[in-house]
Amino acid sequence: MGLLDGKVALVTGGSRGIGRAIALRLGQEGADVAVCARNVEAAGEVASEIEGLGRKCLVRACDVADAEQAGALIAATIEELGQLDILVNNAGVTRDNLLMRMKEEDWDEVLAINLKGAFNCARAAVRPMLKARGGRIVNITSVVGLQGNAGQVNYAASKAGLIGLTKSLARELASRGITANAVAPGLVPETGMTGELAAEVQQQMLSAVPLGRAGTPEDVAHAVAFLASEQAAYITGQVLAVDGGMVM
Ligand code: NAP
Repeated sequence: MGLLDGKVALVTGGSRGIGRAIALRLGQEGADVAVCARNVEAAGEVASEIEGLGRKCLVRACDVADAEQAGALIAATIEELGQLDILVNNAGVTRDNLLMRMKEEDWDEVLAINLKGAFNCARAAVRPMLKARGGRIVNITSVVGLQGNAGQVNYAASKAGLIGLTKSLARELASRGITANAVAPGLVPETGMTGELAAEVQQQMLSAVPLGRAGTPEDVAHAVAFLASEQAAYITGQVLAVDGGMVM
């Protein structure tokens, strides 16, 4: 028996990196899983792995920053997989620069995808969850949203905003059995996002991790699977840092 038998999950940005690990983990726990990304070529492999577990997988191209596309994504998930119990807002990007050099479009793009994208998906997902009188929303924020980071004012603002969104949603939806929580990964260098950081910057960040190692996408995925499960029914509005103790 899996933690999520009979459930249907949607993981945005599930084509690679942390989102891919989350989609696989939820599938291993018994959920049917929908994944989206703007470019879904890479998602074919995730779908085969999930289907190899005996679960259904829907792959759909979607830019979560576009409200219409996000609405269509939720509708397609329900149409193809029958319901929507778990929404994982994982899609995210960085456009790093110091404030003085940051272009307005870099601010707008990061906020549009990381924060408005989660709003778009949550708004579309909440109606069917309210009807079902239950659901789980897990937003992937970052330790950067908790403590800030030089060169990432746009990213930090989007991730701090996601924490505010999570806590407000948790309060709005608690009486209907829907929980909303955030997971804040620390340094996860195996993915596209952190892969761009210089080795010495990564080494410097690693030296601030009490557990003495970088995180893996699977470390994050385990936490998401727990928060998405019945076992976490009494947990809402929380930010769970999966960061080796970096922020405490
Ligand atoms: P990644 O490897 O770059 O993957 C990002 C995923 O999001 C891809 O599937 C990407 O696919 C998708 N995506 C990007 N923009 C999208 C959009 N507008 N609409 C739909 N999908 C979109 O990144 P990652 O490192 O796994 O990060 C995943 C999440 O964890 C992000 O929210 C990130 O902020 C957070 N996080 C990561 C780290 C880390 O160290 N890696 C640390 C803390 C938090 P397409 O490009 O094809 O759209």
